[in-house]
Amino acid sequence: MINSWIEVPANSDFPLQNLPFGIFSVNGDAPCVGVRIGDHVIDLSMLMELGYFDGLVIPESTVFHQKTLNNFIALGKSTTLGVRQRVMDLLKEGNSKLRDYPDDRNEVVKHISKVKMHLPVQIGDYTDFYSSIEHATNVGTMFRDPANALLPNWKHLPVGYHGRTSSIVVSGTDIIRPKGQFKPEGHENPSFGATRLLDFELEMGFIVGKNTEMGENVAAMNAEDYIFGFVLFNDWSARDIQSWEYVPLGPFLGKNFASTMSAWVVTIEAIENYRTNSPIQDVEIFDYLKTTGKRTFDIKLEVALKPVNSDKEMLLCKSNFKYLYWNISQQLAHHTINGCPINVGDLYASGTISGSEPTSYGSMLELSWKGTKPILLHDGSERKFLHDGDTVIMRAYSEKDGVRIGFGECVGKILPAR
Ligand code: MN
Repeated sequence: MINSWIEVPANSDFPLQNLPFGIFSVNGDAPCVGVRIGDHVIDLSMLMELGYFDGLVIPESTVFHQKTLNNFIALGKSTTLGVRQRVMDLLKEGNSKLRDYPDDRNEVVKHISKVKMHLPVQIGDYTDFYSSIEHATNVGTMFRDPANALLPNWKHLPVGYHGRTSSIVVSGTDIIRPKGQFKPEGHENPSFGATRLLDFELEMGFIVGKNTEMGENVAAMNAEDYIFGFVLFNDWSARDIQSWEYVPLGPFLGKNFASTMSAWVVTIEAIENYRTNSPIQDVEIFDYLKTTGKRTFDIKLEVALKPVNSDKEMLLCKSNFKYLYWNISQQLAHHTINGCPINVGDLYASGTISGSEPTSYGSMLELSWKGTKPILLHDGSERKFLHDGDTVIMRAYSEKDGVRIGFGECVGKILPAR
């Protein structure tokens, strides 16, 4: 394993092999593009200014002086991967180019405690899929019919819906408990008020790296060319609002009050070594959805809860990205098969990622089985759904041969309804 001259703590999500991109600012200065290594952020705008990208073709000189990654991503993979490779070379153990110039180093390398992270991408469109067979089966069992938990379309296409981008926030942003309409069980008429069934959804999302024209289809086998990287994603959900409103047009206000995204976008190239097979699809699918080879990734996922008035977090579940029935290439192929264009910065989330074991369920709805099996917390309290003051912490990482590629945290704390 190749190391960096910047110290990377053991078990860090961000070794030299990761180098994810994000947007940061220092002391209220204008945000700019950074790369994460260990507990430090590398300022790409300074690297550019100081001439460390000389020899690379970067057509836009202000591309790192931006409050989102969109312009950088739009330069295309040959440029973005060239930049990532250059940063990797500069930080490699034995390379003295930046290391031995303290003036430059102080301008370029910032400790994470000194920076503020921002939402990394201006998201044009956001789609949320529903690609975990375990999650879809659990929800179908609880809300409809255990014998026919999956609807007839489910194994023929990756089900999804269009979400809102205006309420997607970066990790660490507080989440206000939403108000809305819901119909309590046994009541004839709906009530109005703060949601009583506030939940998280453990998801991952990918960021589009290349535009298509209207009418163009992305072939499943080429879909990864259109994917810049991945984030961890919490699709906060108000289950009571959701179940009252969703028929017949699907998710609406029970979903779009807030979603939290991790601050660092991990490139698809960084997780190349963790490719694995998806579950076997046992229903014949149309050709446009067919893929071969390893089209998904072994990414370990976990959710912890820090209950209100407690400093100690408790693990709620462990899941894995590889459990998803529909892979990202199939999702993108399906999304464009009708000619709908995609744009740089679009976000496609996976849907809740649950596994087959109850300890791998990716939402409170499933973990507490619709509130019928409360979860006992270490402070003696119980949870069916989230309380005001609770903090939800999601983590994700791949690990093999001593290299851990992680996504950092995706965190949100619940504030009372206003
Ligand atoms: Mn969702």
